Amino acid sequence: MIKIGKMLQQLLSSLGEKPATHRYPFERVSLPPRFRGKLKFYPEKCIGCRLCMRDCPSAAIQINKIGEKRFEAVISLDRCIYCAQCVDVCPKKALEITSEFELAQLDRKNLKAVFSPPAEPPSAGQAGATNASPETKAPEGA
Ligand code: SF4
Ligand code: SF4
Repeated sequence: MIKIGKMLQQLLSSLGEKPATHRYPFERVSLPPRFRGKLKFYPEKCIGCRLCMRDCPSAAIQINKIGEKRFEAVISLDRCIYCAQCVDVCPKKALEITSEFELAQLDRKNLKAVFSPPAEPPSAGQAGATNASPETKAPEGA
């Protein structure tokens, strides 16, 4: 009986309070300033040293050479533990942690994020040569 009285007292005292939960995803939540979410890769900065691969504790990052001084990163978001070890070890600041956390997928294949460098510019003298801007390619929804 004493417990019921205490419960009622708590219930009444919390009636005027705001809910402790958020109506996510309808209400956005604010993240802590040093929150670690999905990685971002800047292919134009990468030198292919693979220190990130060496230090990753869960073998979640793969750096592939796809041309002369051109590298792509394949990051397995289902393996990554968001420790940022790869970011800390990268000598060229080619990796960055973002605050992106909405990574849920229905198909596990979509948890592989592929970051490719922009297409190589056409060789000198070729008609229609342009300066391609850096671009990141990721699988749908990743
Ligand atoms: S550590 Fe940095 S520069 Fe080296 S391969 Fe990884 S991303 Fe590229
Ligand atoms: S954040 Fe950690 S687990 Fe994820 S790829 Fe980098 S080193 Fe590996």
